[in-house]
Amino acid sequence: MELVQHQSRMLKDDFAPFVLYPWLRYSVVTDGVYCAQCHLFAGPDARVKTLVTTVLRDWSNISKVVLSHMKSEAHLSNCDSASHFLAIMKGEKKDILCSMSSQYNVVVEKNRKILVSITEAIVFCGKQKLALRGHEGDKGNFQALLSFQAKQDPILKEHLEHGDPRSMYLSPDLQNELISICGKQIADSIVSKCNSAPCFKFMADEATDASTME
Ligand SMILES: [Zn+2]
Repeated sequence: MELVQHQSRMLKDDFAPFVLYPWLRYSVVTDGVYCAQCHLFAGPDARVKTLVTTVLRDWSNISKVVLSHMKSEAHLSNCDSASHFLAIMKGEKKDILCSMSSQYNVVVEKNRKILVSITEAIVFCGKQKLALRGHEGDKGNFQALLSFQAKQDPILKEHLEHGDPRSMYLSPDLQNELISICGKQIADSIVSKCNSAPCFKFMADEATDASTME
């Protein structure tokens, strides 16, 4: 009713389009009508400007223009975008970024668990003084231990059986990298304990490899 008070030329019958087409809006400032959905969701390069970036003031032709606009592909697409937007704002749907982000987080979490299992196998071999690799044709302690772990770990089992060959995290280079990281953490921990202790001493021993080299 506020509309009638401000715009005396708007007759009672002029409200009919607003009831029939709930997306139609009246602009008091420009004294014209426009499509809310298209105004908000059409891109800057919208082909048809009327009712989108330009208000309609030709009251005698309003029904014809509005009907034509309502059937246009652009309008239907913008209505879809508006409905989708409202559903997201009401919490009825997840927005695409949120969905992508949660999917990404699932992958990250899964890869993290796989890496932890692989690292645990390396640490176990280290603590037990077991060589990681075996002889030719032999899986070696590292691979055998992972296979054993996989019996109780469905994520690791799936990874070992169907993982992407480009990111198995099992190569010798990857093993060496993880061994280096573990070594650095052990060294950091020892240094930290030494630094916080009033005094400390070292006891060293020697070991030889298969070729009797120290
Ligand atoms: Zn529209």
